[in-house]
Amino acid sequence: MLIFKKLLGLKQISDEIMEQIISRCGNLCSECPWSIHMRKKINKENWEEFSNEIKKYTGFKPVKYEWEGCFGCLTPNGELPKHPFYGFLKNCRTRKCGIYNEIDNCAYCGRFPCANTVARIDFTKEKIAEKLESPIDDKTYERYIRMFDSMTNLKKIRSELDDSQIKNPKSVSEKTEIAEIKGEFKNKNHHKIYEKFIEIANSNLGIKGIDTIAGYEHYLIRKDIVWRLFWIFGLYGKINENNLNIDSITLYENRKPISLPSNEEQWKLYFNILSKFGIFAELEIKTDRLYTPGGYMRVKIPQTNKPAYMIKIKVNLNLQKYQFFKMLNEILSELQIKAGKRAFAKFRKLDFKYLLN
Ligand code: SF4
Ligand code: SF4
Repeated sequence: MLIFKKLLGLKQISDEIMEQIISRCGNLCSECPWSIHMRKKINKENWEEFSNEIKKYTGFKPVKYEWEGCFGCLTPNGELPKHPFYGFLKNCRTRKCGIYNEIDNCAYCGRFPCANTVARIDFTKEKIAEKLESPIDDKTYERYIRMFDSMTNLKKIRSELDDSQIKNPKSVSEKTEIAEIKGEFKNKNHHKIYEKFIEIANSNLGIKGIDTIAGYEHYLIRKDIVWRLFWIFGLYGKINENNLNIDSITLYENRKPISLPSNEEQWKLYFNILSKFGIFAELEIKTDRLYTPGGYMRVKIPQTNKPAYMIKIKVNLNLQKYQFFKMLNEILSELQIKAGKRAFAKFRKLDFKYLLN
């Protein structure tokens, strides 16, 4: 029923798209190997072969045929079955943004293509051909790739819309949670470090379009990672005056509740953010077997207990004047002593009242 309601909403676009169920980010739910629909279109005997082909082209192996399948992200939260898979749908920032803005998918949005939609993940014919070092024919593309080529799908829908069908997203006002501090810091250098953290807390951490739901959700993820990294660096890093080193095992053991960047490109993104604040980090790779077959950075060198990589950090001359790493360690240690289990939550809000006179 829900699907037909959605299709009626798309009546001004072509017959081909009319037959498809498009996810908020432009995937084709009606062709998706995770969906309830493909379990009706493909027999159980052919599922393994189909799954293997999907894995070959996309890198992801679909869930077992026996699972009833995803109902699709156009389904309202209240109608989604209770299954761990739907946690991923409920948390999807593109889906949240589409719901908030009351549009079926990003093609109808005045900001399309924005920097924060998950549709930016590239599953184009050309990219996959380049990755596999082999050309992709049209039949293969249609059968195994097109359902995830969200940007191409969205552009096709957009090309068939007129201006009156496009809506600008509603604005969200960003709420940075910073605790009020009344009083003077006992240590002037602690105050300087606090000022640096206020600067970081008030920045958009490199996220464009933070005024949209998708942008704001993206910002929250980035903020969680940035504060956790400072926490781990400050409490567990090895400080040598203006340099700090930390190994992958220590990072991993203290990462929760966040997931660490999983490849060198993601780490570089965070290093780039930190560099805007005078903090310069680099990776030192300790193994030529850095990646798991699934494409994630290892924590340990295989068959050893040694870290697979180190992060080396230094700060600019201005922060050196205030002994940045030593002060960071003092501040976080004091928070741990005074606030116990609530120390990290206090740090995220820059609630440094324990350091005041
Ligand atoms: S996993 Fe995504 S594309 Fe697939 S059916 Fe669910 S919402 Fe649609
Ligand atoms: S702001 Fe971005 S994620 Fe949100 S609806 Fe528009 S294009 Fe999609």
